[in-house]
Amino acid sequence: MNKDIETLKKEALEKIVNAPDTEIENLRIEYLGKKGIIKGLMNEIRTLSADERPNFGKVVNILRSEIESAINERLSRIKEKQTEQIDLTLPGRKLPIGGMHPISRIENEIVDIFVRMGFSVEYGPEIETDYYNFEALNIPPYHPAREMHDTFYLEDGMLLRTHTSPVQVRAMLKKQPPIKVISPGRTYRVDPFDATHSPVFHQVEALWVDKDVGMSDLFGILDVFAKEIYGKDIKVKFVPDYFPFTEPSAEMWISCPFCKGKGCKVCKYTGWIEILGCGMVHYNVLKNVKYNNEQYTGLAFGIGVERVLMIKYNIPDIRLFYENDLRFLGQFR
Ligand SMILES: [Zn+2]
Repeated sequence: MNKDIETLKKEALEKIVNAPDTEIENLRIEYLGKKGIIKGLMNEIRTLSADERPNFGKVVNILRSEIESAINERLSRIKEKQTEQIDLTLPGRKLPIGGMHPISRIENEIVDIFVRMGFSVEYGPEIETDYYNFEALNIPPYHPAREMHDTFYLEDGMLLRTHTSPVQVRAMLKKQPPIKVISPGRTYRVDPFDATHSPVFHQVEALWVDKDVGMSDLFGILDVFAKEIYGKDIKVKFVPDYFPFTEPSAEMWISCPFCKGKGCKVCKYTGWIEILGCGMVHYNVLKNVKYNNEQYTGLAFGIGVERVLMIKYNIPDIRLFYENDLRFLGQFR
């Protein structure tokens, strides 16, 4: 009888190992089911003598556990295979594609325009000394313009720059004229965070010092800039203004890109929008950096990056740029 069981076992294990996946369940029923072969063997115990019973029972139990584990192994392999299977009918997963922030994008656009006109790009620190941010630019401590430039002071007397003009001072101290640079970057002022102000904002400032640089160069360069950003039909006008570091100084206005100068809500029905400040570099600023101010003249202008962007797309609130709402930012991608 034991010999038969050996044969049976060999046959069963061979079948289990070699059967296709779909046959394993049938083999399980065939051997281990309620009416299966093992059950049949167990029922045979009754026909045996009392001496034979224990040994036979033991042999059948071993047989059952071996068949069980062989079947379980096949079943767990089948399960593994099923989870590994790729469902080709599933739609692909879309990877979100990022985009440049609108401020960086327009800043690059502005920088490109001036690079094409021969300006080179200079960067400088955002933490500055009082000298580079104010004094060298003809804004001594008692000067009322300091109030407009109220900034964040640090413990050691350093401050967060209120404009990118200190970069120009640093550039002039490094190099004698001719010098033709633009300095883009982040700037700070103690301003409320409201629709038109932000304590952090961005500027692109330009400086060109050489022999015979004049107001006509300034106006020509800025006219090109306005047309590049807002379109060929944009007109510009210059209105006298005051800045401590330029003399004479002017504001540049552009014809309203929305109503073409006819008058609308955006331009407050004037047909014009103020866009930037500019002027000829002040005699004292050239003197402060040890330039020969009899021989050289310079032009300078400062562009508020957010302002250019807000006018271009008629965005009413500067805070939209910093709130990182992708529904807003995604439109500029
Ligand atoms: Zn208008």
